Amino acid sequence: MVAGGCHCGACRYELALTDLPKAYACHCRTCQTWSGSAFSEQVLLAESALSIAGPVVQYGFQSPSGTQSLQRMCGVCHVRLFNTNTMRPGVAVLRAGSLDRSDELDVPVHIWVKRKQPWVVLPVDAETFEEAATIEAIFKLFAR
Ligand SMILES: [Zn+2]
Ligand SMILES: [Zn+2]
Repeated sequence: MVAGGCHCGACRYELALTDLPKAYACHCRTCQTWSGSAFSEQVLLAESALSIAGPVVQYGFQSPSGTQSLQRMCGVCHVRLFNTNTMRPGVAVLRAGSLDRSDELDVPVHIWVKRKQPWVVLPVDAETFEEAATIEAIFKLFAR
């Protein structure tokens, strides 16, 4: 089983997946601000494969491109767990560091590397994109 949750334990989720999904890292400025760190680590999955229990609260905003992003976080400790976006109906973007087995994650893809903090050195075999990548492009690389 693949499971995870927030920092305080009030929110727990399970993924209807047989094994740990692959993750990608996003080095864009927004992800640096959101995470308070150098990059975000994320998993893409069907929203229907994610079941979450606990006091989830939402924060929605409109991106400059006009799409609506809906962020879900724990209402107690405010850890951000996943989001959806009207640009990609049915797809959930999970914060991979919230997975119980995050230490086992494979992160072969890095996007927005032109915004990467200079001290972050990527593996030589990393697949990189200067800016954003489509979900299709990311999944194609995950399948390798
Ligand atoms: Zn919490
Ligand atoms: Zn980003």
